[in-house]
Amino acid sequence: MALKRVTNIHYKKHRTCLKCGTNLPKDLKDNSRIVCEYCKCEMIVDIHGNTLTLTAADHEYLRHRITPEEEKKQTENADPEVLKKLRKELSLAKKEAESWKEAAEGLARQIEEMNSR
Ligand SMILES: [Zn+2]
Repeated sequence: MALKRVTNIHYKKHRTCLKCGTNLPKDLKDNSRIVCEYCKCEMIVDIHGNTLTLTAADHEYLRHRITPEEEKKQTENADPEVLKKLRKELSLAKKEAESWKEAAEGLARQIEEMNSR
């Protein structure tokens, strides 16, 4: 028996019982538990955007569910730091590229001068 399935909510072939493959009810709700009509196994439904996740109820630790609020908090926390770091790295890389360009141009001039002698 599969313990977990992550799929697109519109992909009907995957909206089936993890254990026996019986079709699940059409109106799956986020953060709810359903019981298969056929084999009576219990599953947890998580819906996030177009992603449907089914987890065997006996293995709830596999859910890794984060609420939209938590997700928002995480991106809010991460973004300024990451952006700052990326910007710094980008400006350093640009400076480095400029100095390499200058060095290369200087070298090219030297070679030209040497060839013209
Ligand atoms: Zn079943």
